[in-house]
Amino acid sequence: MRKSQHSGLVVKAYVKSPSTWTDAYVGEISAEGAAEVVAMNKLIPQGYQVEELWLPDIDSNHSAFRLVKGLRTVVVAGDDVQTIRQAVQHEATHALFHALKELSKGGEAEAAIAGCTLEKVGAIYGTLLGFRDSLKPLDVSTKGNLNVLGGNSAPKASKTSQEGGPQIPYKDLVLNPSLEEELVEKEYLLAMVSPANWGEDTEHPWRDCGELFATTLSAYLSDEEQLAQSVKHTLAILKERYPDRHACVEEAMDDLLHIVATFKQGYVRAAEGEEEIGTDWLSKLREFKVEDPTGAQKFIKQAATISLIELDGVLYLTSVEDPEYTAKMADDGANWIRALAK
Ligand SMILES: [Zn+2]
Repeated sequence: MRKSQHSGLVVKAYVKSPSTWTDAYVGEISAEGAAEVVAMNKLIPQGYQVEELWLPDIDSNHSAFRLVKGLRTVVVAGDDVQTIRQAVQHEATHALFHALKELSKGGEAEAAIAGCTLEKVGAIYGTLLGFRDSLKPLDVSTKGNLNVLGGNSAPKASKTSQEGGPQIPYKDLVLNPSLEEELVEKEYLLAMVSPANWGEDTEHPWRDCGELFATTLSAYLSDEEQLAQSVKHTLAILKERYPDRHACVEEAMDDLLHIVATFKQGYVRAAEGEEEIGTDWLSKLREFKVEDPTGAQKFIKQAATISLIELDGVLYLTSVEDPEYTAKMADDGANWIRALAK
């Protein structure tokens, strides 16, 4: 385990293969990852910022935001360090989402805005999910028909919209084959924000509203153009195929893009040397109305923050939102976590 400090942030690297993860390499990824955590922390309200960055030299599926014995920790696993900035951005947006949840419980002035923003994200997720589920009976036979960037029924490059609007350059966007393999038809609608659409790592925005938020915001931070293009394509297809009922998805995505754009403004300001952004960006968010707050709250609860605790020498994952959820860590994961948690 190698421990270092960058701008007050603790970085710990678990090095399994010293031949590939040399000291110089660990130094490089630690500095790059830490710089991005520090940048993202400026968006996260005081008291909820990321405290540690862990870099375990192990395979994927371990990148995450975790509360490790109470410490807010971003973990970037071995496979993801190639694109460590994007990986940190994604996981740190989970920290931001967690901060919004915690902030919304308080009595401060910003609690209402944080709660309202969260509820809106929950409601957007619900809208996309509802639309997706309503399509299932119609579309199961044509895999990929909502996947505007590929699949067997995606429009051809030469297609012009029915209204005679501008031609959309489909040909430049090819679906990442892994996305097509992994997903079934029903996930395509929410996959419109996944960076897999423009050849980057795949994400799982359909899993819960926290993942929708994290995937959209981190994609917007790292590749605003591509994300906008991908969303535009999906909306164009929906408009063409479901002219009577696509509007709710368009509205939902408009709100979601407004939210992530507001965060990006704060991120850019912070990068340009402004001091801590704190919570002042909250006031720049629209005041959203949510029709079904109870339904939205249910989705927020599903977007659980996972805590890592130790009981009698055994490591467990538990959910902050769902006390029923407890999972014992597998031994292979527990080894590197124990080393890093010291
Ligand atoms: Zn995530």
